[in-house]
Amino acid sequence: MKYSLKLAHLYGDLLNTYGDIGNILTLQYYAKQMNVELTADVVSLETPFDAQKYDLFFFGGGQDYEQMIVSQDIQQKKAALTNFIEDGGPGLAICGGFQLLGKYYIGAAGQRIDGIAALPHYTNSQDNNRFIGDITIKNSASGQTYHGFENHNGVTYLGENEEPLGKVISGHGNNGEDGGEGAIYNNVFCSYFHGPILARNGELAKKLLLLALKRKYPTADLSEQEKLKIKPTY
Ligand code: GLN
Repeated sequence: MKYSLKLAHLYGDLLNTYGDIGNILTLQYYAKQMNVELTADVVSLETPFDAQKYDLFFFGGGQDYEQMIVSQDIQQKKAALTNFIEDGGPGLAICGGFQLLGKYYIGAAGQRIDGIAALPHYTNSQDNNRFIGDITIKNSASGQTYHGFENHNGVTYLGENEEPLGKVISGHGNNGEDGGEGAIYNNVFCSYFHGPILARNGELAKKLLLLALKRKYPTADLSEQEKLKIKPTY
């Protein structure tokens, strides 16, 4: 393979609902077609996040209990992850991971679960309700439509310099009020979509890979990689 990328799978042994790990398999599937060898390490409890070693990260979703454990540990990785994101490091965060990159999540039992505030959103809890079901959104910049399945108690409100990943066409999205789903901040993409999101929305996988390649190989000619055709898979 001509290129290589290394992915940090944040807390992959604790946060992995609905086969979120399929996002990494999807990245590997498209990476191969782009002449890229993509390898992944689980970076979990008591292991620092080494921003020099990784070209992108993936952070999956989970239950409130596991999120509480991760919430404590991730404070030690806060500086390194924040610097990576501020430096344009690409990443994908789903559901619980999305919540923990933000300021806080109030869990279903009312407990405050701190995030790292690398992204400026915050997440409250719904009373005896969850948003569950199929969801479709449209990204305004690319015109792309994304399909997924959401299941969350949390209701998320975006902050400054954050845009939604898409506008809700059907389903609930971040909070059921403002019509937004997910978040984009620098080169980080967040969403409540399981499915897994990249298996159903290959264009997003391609975007993440290209961002990581451009950052690692700034002078490379990536025109072949840009041309990769993604077949709809939903
Ligand atoms: N526990 C969080 C919530 O219910 C995240 C759920 C998830 O990752 N699926 O909102």
